[in-house]
Amino acid sequence: MAHGDGTKSVWAGEEHPFWERSTQVPIAQTVSFGYQDVDEWMAVALGKEEGHIYSRNTNPTVDVFERRIAALERAEAATAFATGMAAISGTLRTLLAPGDRVVSVTDTYGGTTKLFLEFLPRDGVIVELISTDDHEAIEAAVAEGCKVLYLETPTNPTLKILDLERLAAAGHAVGATVVVDNTFATPINQRPLALGADLVVHSATKFLGGHADALGGIVCGNADLIERIYHYREINGATLGPFAAYLLQRSVKTLHLRVERQNSNALAIAKHLETHPAIEAVFYPGLKSHPHHDVAARQMTGFGGVLSFSIRGGLDAVKTVLPRLQLAHLAANLGAVETVAGPPATTSHVEMTAQERAAMGIPESLIRYSVGIEDVADLIADLDQALAVGAL
Ligand SMILES: *Cc1c(COP(=O)(O)O)cnc(C)c1O
Repeated sequence: MAHGDGTKSVWAGEEHPFWERSTQVPIAQTVSFGYQDVDEWMAVALGKEEGHIYSRNTNPTVDVFERRIAALERAEAATAFATGMAAISGTLRTLLAPGDRVVSVTDTYGGTTKLFLEFLPRDGVIVELISTDDHEAIEAAVAEGCKVLYLETPTNPTLKILDLERLAAAGHAVGATVVVDNTFATPINQRPLALGADLVVHSATKFLGGHADALGGIVCGNADLIERIYHYREINGATLGPFAAYLLQRSVKTLHLRVERQNSNALAIAKHLETHPAIEAVFYPGLKSHPHHDVAARQMTGFGGVLSFSIRGGLDAVKTVLPRLQLAHLAANLGAVETVAGPPATTSHVEMTAQERAAMGIPESLIRYSVGIEDVADLIADLDQALAVGAL
């Protein structure tokens, strides 16, 4: 019988026995792997025998992390990168050549948007970014033909939802490779490959790592596509290091527990804030008031640990309220065991002007709140005391 997410989180990818019967995954903190027998060395180097040569290409600790995430995404294969952006950039650059067209949406992660607007056009790639709110316009742009359809859901920071099954079908109708950034949902809440995507990318820095102490990225999909992306990465060199891979695979052992807790904490907080007098609007796909709640409920098994809300009083109120939070780092990361809060103006959309953020429907009075695994009653009490400011 196929194992469930909890069992896979703990065990998948470990090929025992490890060195000296170690029960835990050893850190192969080494650049190279030595061979006494030159024939054997050549066989491994030519891929005729299993083994490792040089850690920019492959490393046993990195392998465990790759196999574990591939198992959770129900993918044939995965290849890891130094960061999430390296994974996204490596995937797009593997798939796209000069003259190719890529269709995506305006609400992708800030760094991804920069790739689309600043770097890919420089290499002759034609980029079409369509409003995340308009599925028909995305389908129309895809129908004109494209090599890659790049999607992200839920989005950052306003938690918009894209219908993956519907859009993947549109992509496949024109022969596009469909790529989904699954960082916000994690494979515990959403499995894009089962909904029709060809590739799933993650910033492992966020929920997969979960402790904000290691950067990493990963791409999952069928073996042929992953082989091509692996080849791009081994030559371009944005490899995940063995120590970060160790931390990430160790943290994934609790992914299912952390995400379940973050789902329930976030939903309770979103519901509480929805009725709070200091709050203008709450953005969370688990709320019935969310415009695409039905799509989210269909394609996700949990709604994730990130919500955002706009508060009365604009940016000045944000500057007053944020430092009053006792149980949150004010920082740019998300998906950690600790709650993390910040405005898009300093985090996901720091590269943009206030006017550009407004044009994207990101209010200056928005706070992104990445819920940790603390007791939810303590987090709600903390938010209430922070929001109880006379000036608001
Ligand atoms: C953080 C993030 C990235 C980039 O990941 P890094 O590990 O910081 O390079 C990409 N996509 C999403 C949705 C993210 O939140």
